[in-house]
Amino acid sequence: MAEHTFRQRYGRYFWAIALIVLALFLLRPIISSLPAAPDETAAPVETATATSTPLVVNTAEPSPYFDYDAVDTSLQTFDLSNLPVRRDDSLRPAMNPSTFRGKLPQHEEFQRYTVLSGDTPIGIADRFGIIPETLLGGNPQLSEEAGLLFADSELIILPIDGVLHDVQYGDTLENLAAKYNVAVDDIIAYQPNNLEFPYRLYEDTQILVPGAVREVFKWDPPDVSAAQGNYQNTSNQLVVGYGSFIWPTTGYRITQTYWYGHQAVDVGIETGTPLYAADSGKVTFAAWSPYCYANLIVINHRNGFETFYAHLSSFNVVPGQVVFQGNLIGYSGNTGCSTGPHLHFEIRRNGTRLDPCAWTNGC
Ligand SMILES: [Zn+2]
Repeated sequence: MAEHTFRQRYGRYFWAIALIVLALFLLRPIISSLPAAPDETAAPVETATATSTPLVVNTAEPSPYFDYDAVDTSLQTFDLSNLPVRRDDSLRPAMNPSTFRGKLPQHEEFQRYTVLSGDTPIGIADRFGIIPETLLGGNPQLSEEAGLLFADSELIILPIDGVLHDVQYGDTLENLAAKYNVAVDDIIAYQPNNLEFPYRLYEDTQILVPGAVREVFKWDPPDVSAAQGNYQNTSNQLVVGYGSFIWPTTGYRITQTYWYGHQAVDVGIETGTPLYAADSGKVTFAAWSPYCYANLIVINHRNGFETFYAHLSSFNVVPGQVVFQGNLIGYSGNTGCSTGPHLHFEIRRNGTRLDPCAWTNGC
């Protein structure tokens, strides 16, 4: 009965007291951070010392000069190679948080084509509705010499015109766009590349760069005409070409015409067919070339033009020799990147390879 009376009397205060206790508990960190009340027993703060002793400047002594000899120069010989630098780009900001992992490119299985005897790059490209340059885009080995296109070899046919790029360490989308002269957005827009922000590229994957054209390899042979003395009597003779060219052989069957991936003409002729200087000039190269050309003759016509005769079986000239238009220079063959006896004939003007068919009357 007494307990009942107690609850009746004080029960209404119980929750109020409980709330106050709880509030004090929660506010404890704030209360404890409040500045403590000044301690009355602490020593009084000295405030008069700043003005009690005035600053004295000694004007009698000269200003101390800087003694360079006393400087410790040991820092200048500090061995930087011992610094714990992990790698050259260790200061490069991380592109993404380490937790980011993008999707890898997911190209469908590329279509493959086995080359038939008599195929041409232009013919194959036509069949698949791509431009011949895209054959280079999917098959980098062809950018060295389109003559490598031979029967029974297998080509990758890309689904769209462009270049299939092997991603290497350091590649970025911006670099690829600049290298192939295309827009970054075009690379992103090609869905199988699987690119998502922040567009990270992964080594050992392949990115298809739509609209890109792979650069073709061009070998510039060294001028070795001065290295051999056999024809010193004629090497200083100034012979300049006419600037017009005769057909360099007796055969006229063109097996590969001029196009971006083959900036020359191939003439199908029997091994041992005589070859003639297309114009007058000086032989600057007549030797085995480390490149696909194999046995190669180069004549510099000293008017900006050079002519190239490749895959030969034998030479009839040496470097340094002066030749006149129509002179016998060698015999055709089947050496180097060649899949049948033929002459590979180039006309270059200031290093640019021209279409021999446009500069001769043999095609
Ligand atoms: Zn060729």
